[in-house]
Amino acid sequence: MLQQLTERVWYLPHDEPSDRPVLTYIEGDQLSVAVDAGASPAHVREFYTAITDQRLPIPEITILTHWHWDHSFGLCAVNGFTMASKKTAARLKEMADWQWTPEAMEERLRSGAEIPFCHEHICLEYRRPEWIQVTQPDMTLEGEGTMDIGGVTIACETCDSPHSRDALLVGADDCLIIGDAGYEDFYELDRQYDKTRLAAFIERLKGRPEKWLIAGHEKPLPLQEFIANLESIYKEL
Ligand SMILES: [Zn+2]
Repeated sequence: MLQQLTERVWYLPHDEPSDRPVLTYIEGDQLSVAVDAGASPAHVREFYTAITDQRLPIPEITILTHWHWDHSFGLCAVNGFTMASKKTAARLKEMADWQWTPEAMEERLRSGAEIPFCHEHICLEYRRPEWIQVTQPDMTLEGEGTMDIGGVTIACETCDSPHSRDALLVGADDCLIIGDAGYEDFYELDRQYDKTRLAAFIERLKGRPEKWLIAGHEKPLPLQEFIANLESIYKEL
Protein backbone atom coordinates (compact mmCIF):
# COMPACT_ATOMS: atom_id res chain seq x y z
CA MET A 1 0.00 0.00 0.00
CA LEU A 2 1.23 3.50 -0.88
CA GLN A 3 2.31 5.50 2.19
CA GLN A 4 2.23 9.29 2.34
CA LEU A 5 5.32 10.99 3.79
CA THR A 6 4.76 14.68 2.98
CA GLU A 7 2.09 16.58 1.06
CA ARG A 8 3.62 15.68 -2.32
CA VAL A 9 5.69 12.58 -1.62
CA TRP A 10 4.40 9.02 -1.31
CA TYR A 11 6.22 5.70 -1.34
CA LEU A 12 5.68 1.98 -1.78
CA PRO A 13 7.65 0.31 1.04
CA HIS A 14 10.55 -2.07 0.40
CA ASP A 15 10.16 -5.82 0.76
CA GLU A 16 12.95 -7.62 2.57
CA PRO A 17 12.51 -11.25 1.35
CA SER A 18 12.38 -10.32 -2.35
CA ASP A 19 14.83 -7.38 -1.94
CA ARG A 20 12.41 -5.14 -3.83
CA PRO A 21 13.36 -1.55 -2.94
CA VAL A 22 11.24 1.44 -1.94
CA LEU A 23 9.59 3.13 -4.93
CA THR A 24 8.83 6.84 -4.48
CA TYR A 25 6.05 8.87 -6.05
CA ILE A 26 6.09 12.68 -6.31
CA GLU A 27 2.78 14.34 -7.09
CA GLY A 28 2.97 17.53 -9.12
CA ASP A 29 0.03 19.60 -10.37
CA GLN A 30 1.09 19.08 -14.00
CA LEU A 31 3.07 15.86 -13.95
CA SER A 32 3.99 13.18 -11.48
CA VAL A 33 7.35 11.52 -11.10
CA ALA A 34 8.48 8.11 -9.88
CA VAL A 35 11.90 7.55 -8.38
CA ASP A 36 13.17 4.09 -9.34
CA ALA A 37 11.54 1.61 -11.68
CA GLY A 38 11.75 -1.43 -9.44
CA ALA A 39 12.83 -5.00 -10.02
CA SER A 40 10.43 -6.16 -12.72
CA PRO A 41 7.21 -5.42 -14.64
CA ALA A 42 5.38 -7.18 -11.78
CA HIS A 43 6.89 -4.72 -9.31
CA VAL A 44 5.82 -1.79 -11.54
CA ARG A 45 2.28 -3.23 -11.65
CA GLU A 46 2.18 -3.42 -7.85
CA PHE A 47 3.37 0.21 -7.65
CA TYR A 48 0.87 1.51 -10.22
CA THR A 49 -2.00 -0.36 -8.57
CA ALA A 50 -1.06 1.21 -5.23
CA ILE A 51 -0.97 4.65 -6.93
CA THR A 52 -4.37 4.28 -8.60
CA ASP A 53 -5.83 2.92 -5.33
CA GLN A 54 -5.06 6.40 -3.90
CA ARG A 55 -6.74 8.02 -6.94
CA LEU A 56 -3.41 9.50 -8.01
CA PRO A 57 -2.26 9.66 -11.64
CA ILE A 58 0.31 7.22 -13.02
CA PRO A 59 3.77 8.87 -13.19
CA GLU A 60 4.78 10.40 -16.53
CA ILE A 61 8.50 10.42 -15.67
CA THR A 62 10.61 7.78 -13.94
CA ILE A 63 14.07 8.62 -12.59
CA LEU A 64 16.60 5.92 -11.63
CA THR A 65 18.82 6.31 -8.57
CA HIS A 66 21.49 3.81 -9.81
CA TRP A 67 21.96 0.86 -12.15
CA HIS A 68 21.34 -2.13 -9.82
CA TRP A 69 18.78 -4.61 -11.12
CA ASP A 70 16.25 -4.20 -8.29
CA HIS A 71 15.95 -0.48 -9.13
CA SER A 72 16.22 -0.64 -12.92
CA PHE A 73 14.80 -3.87 -14.42
CA GLY A 74 11.25 -2.52 -14.19
CA LEU A 75 12.19 0.27 -16.64
CA CYS A 76 10.84 -1.69 -19.63
CA ALA A 77 7.33 -1.53 -18.12
CA VAL A 78 7.01 2.05 -16.89
CA ASN A 79 4.79 4.75 -18.37
CA GLY A 80 6.18 7.85 -20.10
CA PHE A 81 9.75 9.14 -20.09
CA THR A 82 12.68 7.75 -18.18
CA MET A 83 15.83 9.42 -16.89
CA ALA A 84 19.09 8.32 -15.25
CA SER A 85 22.64 9.50 -14.76
CA LYS A 86 25.01 9.07 -17.70
CA LYS A 87 26.93 6.43 -15.78
CA THR A 88 23.75 4.47 -15.02
CA ALA A 89 22.77 4.58 -18.69
CA ALA A 90 26.22 3.32 -19.73
CA ARG A 91 25.98 0.41 -17.32
CA LEU A 92 22.47 -0.52 -18.49
CA LYS A 93 23.65 -0.37 -22.10
CA GLU A 94 26.30 -2.97 -21.24
CA MET A 95 23.77 -5.19 -19.47
CA ALA A 96 21.25 -4.93 -22.30
CA ASP A 97 23.59 -7.16 -24.33
CA TRP A 98 23.74 -9.85 -21.66
CA GLN A 99 22.01 -13.16 -22.23
CA TRP A 100 19.42 -14.02 -19.60
CA THR A 101 19.58 -17.80 -19.70
CA PRO A 102 20.38 -19.88 -16.58
CA GLU A 103 23.69 -20.88 -18.23
CA ALA A 104 24.74 -17.31 -19.02
CA MET A 105 23.78 -16.23 -15.49
CA GLU A 106 25.85 -19.04 -13.95
CA GLU A 107 28.77 -18.02 -16.13
CA ARG A 108 28.55 -14.41 -14.92
CA LEU A 109 28.58 -15.68 -11.34
CA ARG A 110 31.76 -17.65 -12.07
CA SER A 111 33.43 -14.68 -13.77
CA GLY A 112 32.41 -12.27 -11.01
CA ALA A 113 30.30 -10.05 -13.31
CA GLU A 114 27.36 -10.92 -11.04
CA ILE A 115 27.36 -11.41 -7.27
CA PRO A 116 25.56 -14.25 -5.43
CA PHE A 117 23.29 -11.91 -3.42
CA CYS A 118 21.78 -10.36 -6.57
CA HIS A 119 21.77 -13.61 -8.52
CA GLU A 120 19.69 -15.32 -5.83
CA HIS A 121 17.16 -12.48 -5.64
CA ILE A 122 16.87 -12.19 -9.44
CA CYS A 123 16.00 -15.90 -9.49
CA LEU A 124 13.31 -15.26 -6.85
CA GLU A 125 11.82 -12.32 -8.78
CA TYR A 126 11.84 -14.03 -12.19
CA ARG A 127 10.51 -17.55 -12.56
CA ARG A 128 12.14 -17.52 -16.01
CA PRO A 129 15.20 -15.26 -16.48
CA GLU A 130 14.45 -15.12 -20.24
CA TRP A 131 11.70 -12.64 -19.30
CA ILE A 132 14.28 -10.07 -18.15
CA GLN A 133 14.45 -7.02 -20.39
CA VAL A 134 17.13 -4.46 -19.63
CA THR A 135 16.16 -1.06 -21.03
CA GLN A 136 18.06 2.20 -21.30
CA PRO A 137 16.65 5.53 -20.14
CA ASP A 138 15.25 8.08 -22.63
CA MET A 139 17.20 10.95 -21.06
CA THR A 140 20.44 11.23 -19.12
CA LEU A 141 21.70 13.76 -16.63
CA GLU A 142 25.16 14.70 -15.44
CA GLY A 143 25.65 17.17 -12.61
CA GLU A 144 22.66 19.06 -11.30
CA GLY A 145 19.24 19.80 -12.76
CA THR A 146 15.82 20.91 -11.57
CA MET A 147 12.36 20.26 -12.90
CA ASP A 148 9.17 22.11 -11.93
CA ILE A 149 6.25 19.68 -12.20
CA GLY A 150 3.65 22.09 -10.84
CA GLY A 151 3.60 23.01 -7.16
CA VAL A 152 6.80 21.08 -6.47
CA THR A 153 10.35 21.31 -7.78
CA ILE A 154 12.46 18.22 -8.27
CA ALA A 155 16.19 18.72 -7.78
CA CYS A 156 18.44 16.02 -9.22
CA GLU A 157 22.13 15.63 -8.58
CA THR A 158 24.56 12.96 -9.79
CA CYS A 159 27.50 11.93 -7.62
CA ASP A 160 29.81 9.15 -6.51
CA SER A 161 28.55 7.20 -3.48
CA PRO A 162 29.76 4.50 -1.09
CA HIS A 163 27.32 2.04 -2.75
CA SER A 164 27.93 2.65 -6.48
CA ARG A 165 29.73 5.14 -8.71
CA ASP A 166 26.62 6.30 -10.59
CA ALA A 167 24.31 7.71 -7.89
CA LEU A 168 21.52 10.14 -8.67
CA LEU A 169 19.94 11.90 -5.68
CA VAL A 170 16.47 13.40 -5.93
CA GLY A 171 15.18 16.16 -3.67
CA ALA A 172 11.48 17.07 -3.58
CA ASP A 173 9.06 18.52 -1.03
CA ASP A 174 11.41 18.24 1.97
CA CYS A 175 12.43 14.67 1.06
CA LEU A 176 15.79 13.48 -0.24
CA ILE A 177 15.56 10.21 -2.17
CA ILE A 178 18.91 8.46 -2.47
CA GLY A 179 18.23 4.87 -3.47
CA ASP A 180 21.01 2.73 -1.99
CA ALA A 181 23.68 5.45 -2.12
CA GLY A 182 24.31 5.32 1.65
CA TYR A 183 24.90 1.57 1.79
CA GLU A 184 28.03 -0.58 1.35
CA ASP A 185 29.51 -1.39 -2.06
CA PHE A 186 28.31 -4.91 -2.91
CA TYR A 187 29.93 -5.21 -6.34
CA GLU A 188 33.38 -3.62 -6.02
CA LEU A 189 34.13 -4.10 -2.32
CA ASP A 190 32.23 -7.25 -1.29
CA ARG A 191 29.74 -5.41 0.94
CA GLN A 192 32.30 -3.11 2.54
CA TYR A 193 32.51 0.65 2.86
CA ASP A 194 35.32 2.67 1.33
CA LYS A 195 36.19 5.20 4.03
CA THR A 196 36.97 8.09 1.67
CA ARG A 197 33.79 7.63 -0.37
CA LEU A 198 31.69 7.38 2.81
CA ALA A 199 33.23 10.56 4.25
CA ALA A 200 32.53 12.48 1.03
CA PHE A 201 28.95 11.22 0.98
CA ILE A 202 28.34 12.23 4.62
CA GLU A 203 29.60 15.73 3.80
CA ARG A 204 27.28 15.88 0.79
CA LEU A 205 24.27 14.89 2.93
CA LYS A 206 25.19 17.46 5.58
CA GLY A 207 24.78 20.20 2.98
CA ARG A 208 21.21 19.17 2.16
CA PRO A 209 18.19 21.10 3.43
CA GLU A 210 15.60 18.29 3.42
CA LYS A 211 13.91 16.96 6.54
CA TRP A 212 13.32 13.39 5.39
CA LEU A 213 15.52 10.79 3.79
CA ILE A 214 14.17 7.94 1.69
CA ALA A 215 16.67 5.11 1.23
CA GLY A 216 16.24 1.97 -0.85
CA HIS A 217 15.74 -0.80 1.66
CA GLU A 218 14.37 0.66 4.87
CA LYS A 219 11.65 2.94 6.23
CA PRO A 220 12.07 6.69 5.55
CA LEU A 221 13.76 8.46 8.42
CA PRO A 222 14.84 12.00 9.37
CA LEU A 223 17.86 13.03 7.28
CA GLN A 224 19.79 13.99 10.42
CA GLU A 225 19.23 10.51 11.87
CA PHE A 226 20.50 8.89 8.68
CA ILE A 227 23.62 11.10 8.78
CA ALA A 228 24.23 10.16 12.44
CA ASN A 229 23.96 6.46 11.52
CA LEU A 230 26.53 6.88 8.74
CA GLU A 231 28.84 8.81 11.07
CA SER A 232 28.82 5.98 13.60
CA ILE A 233 29.58 3.48 10.81
CA TYR A 234 32.45 5.74 9.70
CA LYS A 235 33.93 5.79 13.22
CA GLU A 236 34.00 1.97 13.28
CA LEU A 237 35.91 1.68 9.98
ZN1 LIG B 1 21.89 -1.00 -5.08
